[in-house]
Amino acid sequence: EIDIPEDHPRYQSLLTRHRIEEGVENGITSKQGLIAEGRGEAFDYLLGERTIESADRAERTAAAYLLRAEHPVLSVNGNVAALVPREIIELATVVNAEIEINLFNRTPERMDAIEAHLHSHGAAAVKGRTADGRIPGLSHERAKVDADGIGSADVVLVPLEDGDRAEALAAMGKIELVIDLNPLSRSAQHATVPIIDNILRAVPNIAAHAKDLADASDAELTDIIDAFDSSEALTAAEDAIRTGRLS
Ligand code: ATP
Ligand code: MG
Repeated sequence: EIDIPEDHPRYQSLLTRHRIEEGVENGITSKQGLIAEGRGEAFDYLLGERTIESADRAERTAAAYLLRAEHPVLSVNGNVAALVPREIIELATVVNAEIEINLFNRTPERMDAIEAHLHSHGAAAVKGRTADGRIPGLSHERAKVDADGIGSADVVLVPLEDGDRAEALAAMGKIELVIDLNPLSRSAQHATVPIIDNILRAVPNIAAHAKDLADASDAELTDIIDAFDSSEALTAAEDAIRTGRLS
């Protein structure tokens, strides 16, 4: 770990960059992941690097969906593994979800590196190696999922997902919870719940909401879900970016 002074005004963004850089050095994150990080940072800057109110509502709704799910799966790619390994494992525990490694640029080496990285942070079982399921409508490598993982999930959390795959997963009828700082990205547009927030803040906040809702009835969870409006969430984020108002 490098030494970043915590009182530096751009502390979080410097820490994020460092983690991604380290991820690339350790074979966890692809070089493409560096570019994705840059795009994310730009949007976070415009949002004021904070969780806007509508994103907090989306995070609570995501928690409700995960708690109500029959078979929830959290999808992990190279950026997710580098940025929030502990937090994803914690969320999986709180909502009783599975973790599946899902890579846009799938190589055996990166699958191994991410799996080892997650195990070193305390993950028990990690899916993604079997790859005996396919997402219809995608080319071979990008279509691969575990049949008993994402393949049969009813609710999937897909942070920083590629737009094509987000669209194809939605077409499979899955409830898709997307974390993406760009409200205009196709991933966010196709989501059941678009979470326009930095994954560093979003994942712990979903877990906090899930803990808070642990004793809620299915009816209470459904009320939260029914009250959520995805296009309103996208508009609120775009508005916050355009006006600097924190809605
Ligand atoms: P589209 O969805 O429009 O097809 P894309 O999928 O090709 O775009 P990518 O650059 O592959 O775009 O996706 C990366 C996405 O992840 C970007 O929208 C970026 O804003 C977002 N992103 C990057 N870092 C973070 C982060 N730390 N937290 C949340 N979102 C992030
Ligand atoms: Mg996208």
